[in-house]
Amino acid sequence: MNKILENKYPYLTNFFETALKENRLFHSIIFYGSNCYSQYAIALELARKLNCLENGSNDCTCQNCRWIRENRHPAVMTVSKLDNKTDKSKTVISEEQINMVLDTMYNSSEFHRVFIFCDAQITDTKTNDYDEFISTGFNPPQGDEEKIWYPLGLNITCLSSVASNAMLKSLEEPHSGVTFIFLTNSKDDLLPTIVSRSQVFYVPDTKIYQYNTDFLNQPFHSYPYIPKEKAVDLAQYLLNYQLENNLEPAYILDSIQYYFTELIKSNINNQVMVNIIFRDIEKIQESKKMIKSYIKEQTVYEDLAFYLTKS
Ligand SMILES: [Zn+2]
Repeated sequence: MNKILENKYPYLTNFFETALKENRLFHSIIFYGSNCYSQYAIALELARKLNCLENGSNDCTCQNCRWIRENRHPAVMTVSKLDNKTDKSKTVISEEQINMVLDTMYNSSEFHRVFIFCDAQITDTKTNDYDEFISTGFNPPQGDEEKIWYPLGLNITCLSSVASNAMLKSLEEPHSGVTFIFLTNSKDDLLPTIVSRSQVFYVPDTKIYQYNTDFLNQPFHSYPYIPKEKAVDLAQYLLNYQLENNLEPAYILDSIQYYFTELIKSNINNQVMVNIIFRDIEKIQESKKMIKSYIKEQTVYEDLAFYLTKS
């Protein structure tokens, strides 16, 4: 896998490396998190691995690898309101566009087709996310020195239920040699019918890498086997730490999420453990949403603590 992505997301690249080797990559994949450029880079790297004519090595210069890096491979398509349009709608991925995608699937191809669905915008400001993306060696589908293409998370406005429903059958009865990848900030921004037919991966924002998680070492000492009777203590501990240090609850939740992603790194070969952590990271996403909808912190911590402890 791409070295930069490997350093940033070792558990994801490790997972995909194994899935590709054992030929058990899901036909529909959802990446979610706040950094869509990272998601987009991982999607392109998967497309490259699936299409490489050699052994998929990082520095491969075969035609497929080159075209995918340059983002002009005919079988690797970015589908957004700005990319691969077939009609004049400027604010949504249209049903017509989806039908065009589905039509191309029926043409036989020597390539592995990868469709990357996202929202997108063009701006004239470069951000760190953009620079980091460029450093992976991949290129955006369009834009130039002045105009920068940015991927954004899908939501039900830009990928309507009509457009989503148009592809449900294809998600249900996958074609060999076709992979769908959806980029989004939150799973809840996609129709449940798409989520239930896909393999879902959280892609953490690398900015959360600045969190100091020393305060979590003691309460999470026996994780993932913290006994249920410790749940109330754990919730209280998190609340006290937040209040005593004058922190936002979102900071506490981000810290736990970061702590867990680090745990994945150190347990990378223990698939059972990795699965537990993936599941718990998803739960923290839920807790963050509860905080945003003004549910009391104590309630959120208790709900989380009960989920993370085992009877
Ligand atoms: Zn190659």
